[in-house]
Amino acid sequence: MIWRLLHNRLPTKDNLVAHNIIPLDARFCVTGCGEPETANHLFLSCPFFAPLWTLVRSWIGIAPAVGELLQDHFA
Ligand SMILES: [Zn+2]
Repeated sequence: MIWRLLHNRLPTKDNLVAHNIIPLDARFCVTGCGEPETANHLFLSCPFFAPLWTLVRSWIGIAPAVGELLQDHFA
């Protein structure tokens, strides 16, 4: 899962659009927050799902990273 996340291979809607699996107008986040669903959005900026990443970081005991990309958080 981590490899797929860091290589942008998760079946997020942006990837499904890129592979013509769903139409472009279906690219928005499933929560209805209005942003396109990307891995960065889901883990870092979505008002509904991003807080889960904060809880996971706390649970495994790693400090938050400064950065806008998931790769920054894993570095
Ligand atoms: Zn969202």
